[in-house]
Amino acid sequence: MAVIRDVMPTFQLLQPSSVAETLSLLQRHGEAWVLAGGLDSFDWLKDRIKKPDVVVDLSGVDELRGVRAISDGLQIGAMTTLTDVAQHPVIKEKYSVLSQAAELVASPQIRNQGTIDGNVSQDTRCWYYRAGWPCYRAGGNICYADTPVGRNREHAILHAERCVAVSVSDTAPALIALDAKFLIRTLKGERVVDAEDYFVGPDIDITRLTILQHGDLLTAIRIPSTWAGAQFHFEKVRDRNVWDFPLMNVASAMKLSGDTIQQIRIAVNGAAARPLRLKAVEDAVRGQRRDSRAGEMAGKLAVQGAVPLQFNAYKIPLMRNLVKRSIMGVPEATCAS
Ligand SMILES: Cc1cc2nc3c(=O)[nH]c(=O)nc-3n(C[C@H](O)[C@H](O)[C@H](O)COP(=O)(O)OP(=O)(O)OC[C@H]3O[C@@H](n4cnc5c(N)ncnc54)[C@H](O)[C@@H]3O)c2cc1C
Ligand code: SF4
Repeated sequence: MAVIRDVMPTFQLLQPSSVAETLSLLQRHGEAWVLAGGLDSFDWLKDRIKKPDVVVDLSGVDELRGVRAISDGLQIGAMTTLTDVAQHPVIKEKYSVLSQAAELVASPQIRNQGTIDGNVSQDTRCWYYRAGWPCYRAGGNICYADTPVGRNREHAILHAERCVAVSVSDTAPALIALDAKFLIRTLKGERVVDAEDYFVGPDIDITRLTILQHGDLLTAIRIPSTWAGAQFHFEKVRDRNVWDFPLMNVASAMKLSGDTIQQIRIAVNGAAARPLRLKAVEDAVRGQRRDSRAGEMAGKLAVQGAVPLQFNAYKIPLMRNLVKRSIMGVPEATCAS
């Protein structure tokens, strides 16, 4: 009898209605797949590249949804949609770098369905890996993208180690710029990690992009009030100015005294397997006048050590200019790179 391959392999679908129930299901089913909005998840399942036996669907866990004020800022439930993040009045007013980043994700339909937890936890888009090729990230011992003829136009220029894939989350650098905290729970308890530590590169683990392990549930993201109302900049460059993944993006939060940069956080994504907080740039421009000289210096510093692949050398001037513009706060429409 012919084998039918045009359907997803079967799995047990579990639909908890509370966080407590979710955590006990995740503990009981060690390798269960967590399903949020499904936009990344269903790619893997429908392409039959990942074949979990158990899927835990978070869509019925109401306590994971919504944005609420806390004593020191805001708490965004993990299952809050990107549309709700982009349109939330307080996020728009006080933390607009995040609403801008969420607003630039893909299309309205994807933002209506996609969630903030899924956006920061999504996997890389490397063609080879997503097509099921047995590369390093998939547990093999080769990188198909890092060859003279590999399709690596979208890939990494920094911190690549065997795998040259990149993270493509638009909200991740904005959350790093805001010094957000990620709340992760298991049945044993909760841990709170800085946004920048949520993401990992191939030097830490080549098979995943975040610190999440089986059994972990990201429950919420906290935005401290520290950067409320700061000067923000978010910019995303993509192949088409309709819905598309970023080739690279940049997010910064800055506090000024007159023209002088007093405090700053800046992060880019699309340059490496994890969003990069640019601490050296922050240190170099702190105390400097916010002008083109500081922007030039920041851009040059940001790309130090960058190594292009065969087809992505353009990412070096791209990153240099994005960082420069982010320091200068140049409006998109008036800036030439
Ligand atoms: C056509 C298309 C275009 C896109 N363009 C962009 C873009 O321009 N910019 C951008 O940033 N993104 C883009 N995306 C990604 C999209 O925005 C979604 O954010 C992303 O795919 C996943 O969100 P989701 O809610 O659908 O999560 P899912 O796909 O369900 O989950 C994604 C991953 O996160 C894990 N996960 C989810 N929630 C939790 C949790 N609470 N705890 C533990 N693990 C969890 C899942 O197990 C899965 O591995 C695009 C996606 C598509 C399909
Ligand atoms: S870049 Fe990474 S994900 Fe892509 S083929 Fe190479 S090892 Fe695999």
